[in-house]
Amino acid sequence: MPDQTPLVVKLLQQEVEDLKRQLHIQSQGLERAEARLRELPPPQTERENFYLTMFESSPRVRLVLDPDTGEIVDANQAACHFYGYTKQVLQGMKLSDIDLLTAADLLREMRSARTRQRYFFSFRHRLHSGEIVDVEMFTRPILLNGRDLLYALIEDVTERNRQQRELHLLWHAIRQSANSVVITDAAGNIEYVNPAFTKLTGYSLEEVKGQNPRLLKSGHTSPEEYAAMWRTITAGQEWRGEFHNKKKNGDLYWELANISPVVDDRGGITHFVAVKEDVTERRNIEQTLRQSEHRFRSLVGSMDDIVFTLDLQGRHTGVYGRWLEKDGFTPDHFLGKTAAEILGAEAGEIHEAANQQALTGQNVVYEWGDLTQTIQTSLSPIYQEDGTVTGIVGIGRDISRLKQSEEALRQAEHFASATVDALSAHIAILDQHGVIQAVNAAWQGFGKQQGADPARIGVGVNYLDVLAAVDPAGEDGPSAQAVQEGIHQIIGGHISEFAYEYPCPLPEGQRWFVVRCTSFTVEDAIHVVVAHVDITERVVAQEVLRADSVRLDQLVQERTAQLKRLNLRMATILDNASNPILFANADGKIVTTNMALRRRLGYRPRQLDNIDLLSLFDAASVEEVAQAWSAVQTTSQVEHIQARLTAANGASFEAEVTFNRVPDNAGHIVCTLYDISHLKEVERLKDQFISMVSHELRTPIGAILLNTETMQHYYAQMSDDQRIRKLYQIHTQTHRLQELVDAVLDISRLTARHSHRGDDVVDVGGTLTEIVNSLGELAAAKQQRVEVNIEDNAAYIRGERSDLIRVWQNLISNAIKYTDNGGEIRASVYGPKQIGGWLGLSTFSDQIPKDLVQGRHIVGVVTDTGYGIHPEDLPHIFTRFYRGWADDTSIPGTGLGLSLTRDILKLYGGDIAVHSQVGVGTTFCFWLPITE
Ligand code: ADP
Repeated sequence: MPDQTPLVVKLLQQEVEDLKRQLHIQSQGLERAEARLRELPPPQTERENFYLTMFESSPRVRLVLDPDTGEIVDANQAACHFYGYTKQVLQGMKLSDIDLLTAADLLREMRSARTRQRYFFSFRHRLHSGEIVDVEMFTRPILLNGRDLLYALIEDVTERNRQQRELHLLWHAIRQSANSVVITDAAGNIEYVNPAFTKLTGYSLEEVKGQNPRLLKSGHTSPEEYAAMWRTITAGQEWRGEFHNKKKNGDLYWELANISPVVDDRGGITHFVAVKEDVTERRNIEQTLRQSEHRFRSLVGSMDDIVFTLDLQGRHTGVYGRWLEKDGFTPDHFLGKTAAEILGAEAGEIHEAANQQALTGQNVVYEWGDLTQTIQTSLSPIYQEDGTVTGIVGIGRDISRLKQSEEALRQAEHFASATVDALSAHIAILDQHGVIQAVNAAWQGFGKQQGADPARIGVGVNYLDVLAAVDPAGEDGPSAQAVQEGIHQIIGGHISEFAYEYPCPLPEGQRWFVVRCTSFTVEDAIHVVVAHVDITERVVAQEVLRADSVRLDQLVQERTAQLKRLNLRMATILDNASNPILFANADGKIVTTNMALRRRLGYRPRQLDNIDLLSLFDAASVEEVAQAWSAVQTTSQVEHIQARLTAANGASFEAEVTFNRVPDNAGHIVCTLYDISHLKEVERLKDQFISMVSHELRTPIGAILLNTETMQHYYAQMSDDQRIRKLYQIHTQTHRLQELVDAVLDISRLTARHSHRGDDVVDVGGTLTEIVNSLGELAAAKQQRVEVNIEDNAAYIRGERSDLIRVWQNLISNAIKYTDNGGEIRASVYGPKQIGGWLGLSTFSDQIPKDLVQGRHIVGVVTDTGYGIHPEDLPHIFTRFYRGWADDTSIPGTGLGLSLTRDILKLYGGDIAVHSQVGVGTTFCFWLPITE
């Protein structure tokens, strides 16, 4: 009851104000009277008289009490009237007779009153009528007839207390009210808000006290509205309206407010009381409703259909829909009218009948219209809550287009079935159970031709049953089973189509068919189209083609194999050719290389494939190569040039290059290299050797000629001694000549062997012993000790004995030659397993091959305690004719021994190393790989 509260509050407020005012006036009067009493202290009696006159004439209840006894000494007329006793009776009573307090309590109160100028009691008094009233008593001590008495003013406050209680209740009600209550002063400043307000807005009383309620403003209520409200309430009238306000937390809410002014006696506004109800929820619902109504209207309005409602008499009560506008109608054409009134009696009859049916509670659908337009109308009854029909709701839909398309569809169907009939394929349509729904003319014709009963394989028959009935072991068994399985798969939704080819032996001969099954869905049910197509011609053609292609395949395979063999042969020939050869295509890109080429240039197989041919050549040769290349392309004649090539490791070499065109149309070129670098080197060495040999030969020959000529001319004049000396010189030079010739012969023999080692089994230790024996005399002549140490008697190699003899001879004769008299020479042989026992091994560790210690070599060592070799000579002592320091001595030699030794060892895959220290001695160590 929001609107009652403010009124009650208003009333109560006024009442309280009244009472306050009265009390104020009374107490003011009393004050004044008492003041006067004090100001004029008359003589005792006079004063008493004055008192009594005041006492007696007062319209208010007055008593004079004896505080010691509680006796009522005197009572005025008003008191007698109030209590309902005569003066005499009252004067004979004690205060406790009318007061509900006990006599003792009363006496205590009164005694304390006697000691104070003013005293105030709140009592409950019983009247003569028995009624209990609330009184307030003010006392003052008074000296009367010499007695200390109490002058008591008694006020009936029963009504005031009642009103206060009521007020308290009402405040309680306001505090507990679910509506928010706001009380402002006349200026609109908030004095009070109740807890409901705090709960709703989040503002406490302390927060809003003194504030204007506009602090709730959200900005959604217009200033005009506020102004109107303010005008109303300041004019003393009540205002009722809605505000869109904002809570402390910012949330917006709607409230319905009832604001009334509180007016004082003089009609002035003292307060405004606003009682407000939170209507946010209601507003939201209203808004949702409005929106849904709007949606409904726009929905219906946008429909091409017409929606209408009819009352029980078939009169239109509402029409909606865009359709109206299209036909230039307005709802007024319909509202309040029946179908007959709008469309005429004849059409009206149809609608009337339908309406009647709908009113019986049925849903009715019917079509009507003319040649140009067909309208479908659906009617449904509208029920009241109690179940009775109050009207009809109907939807009218223009289905002319639908009708037209239905017709078109019918025609299309007809066309389709005619087309299907015209097809040569045998076509049947099955439903989701496999039952034949339709067949085309070809299907029927085929059946007839085969003498099949149409009832056995025509419309209405289950095709799957027909297939299942075919004998699985029969000729048609496999195909029937396959087709049956396929149709099951389609119906089951696992596949959408399948095709199966099968042979069909007919009386006129073997034929081939393909059965194609595809699915389509009508109203959620799968249908299957089964089409058998005669593919005999295609199969026959395919058969021929297949035979052809098999032949072709064979041919291709044969040719491929042939080609492969040819290629292999080619590759083998190429790889076995000692000359480097490559093929390049017309673009100059390398297509194939042979092993010799890759080996010479240091590439791995295929590494050169597709590489530019020119990139193999030195920059200086590129131009010449390119010229030869284009020449051979244009003239097809063989081109020879000399060019420098660069190997993978960067080393370059000279080669004679031949370009030859391959007689194919692709412009391939075969390019052959003849490595002439070693020829050149050999030539150079040969020249050098010949010049050196001829130089070396010339010296002893010159000496021999000179000495023999001298002897010829001066033989007679010469003394015997001179002759002997000359002969000795001739002998020495001849010996040197012989040595030279031997060495040269050895070298040339070695070269002539073309790396042929020989096949004899040679005992390495045996050859050493032999040489030491033959050279023993020479050593003995120089008092040298020769020690032989053969660590393995089974140290054999395959080769020529004379080679090993030569090696030992050179090394040991050098040791004897280049060691002083009395020196020591030691020659050792270590077999493959004894190599570890050679103490000098570590001295040679950086010169000998790493695998020497693994026991695959025989090692020979010759050590002397001779002159040693100068460090600057060491790198050259294996060079032909190089003698170093020995050249300047009388020690005979050719400078060929060591180089020949090394050549021999190299022929055997071995080598030689030297370690020497001038003045200490020299060690030569050679090694030979063992042969199986
Ligand atoms: P030669 O006929 O001069 O001995 P070699 O080819 O046998 O020719 O030796 C080349 C040179 O190596 C010798 O001239 C000599 O200077 C030096 N030489 C070879 N063997 C020894 C050795 N055992 N002690 C010192 N020097 C040697």
